[in-house]
Amino acid sequence: MRRYQWPFNGKQFIGNTNTNEVHNLDNEKVGCRINEIKTNHVVTFTPDTHYEAKRHGFDNCAHCIGNSKY
Ligand SMILES: [Zn+2]
Repeated sequence: MRRYQWPFNGKQFIGNTNTNEVHNLDNEKVGCRINEIKTNHVVTFTPDTHYEAKRHGFDNCAHCIGNSKY
């Protein structure tokens, strides 16, 4: 579920700099625990794509994206 408030700003892909994982909020699962991510650990991407998150070195969330490396 997308969140329209800061720091999510309605983006599809959200990076957690604490775990170095990227989440797809359009496929959010309970296991993502998005609401437990501290706001200062949330980053968004421009463009808002999975490719861009990977380009910045984020690993996939095993719950909403899959094929997690760790
Ligand atoms: Zn996730």
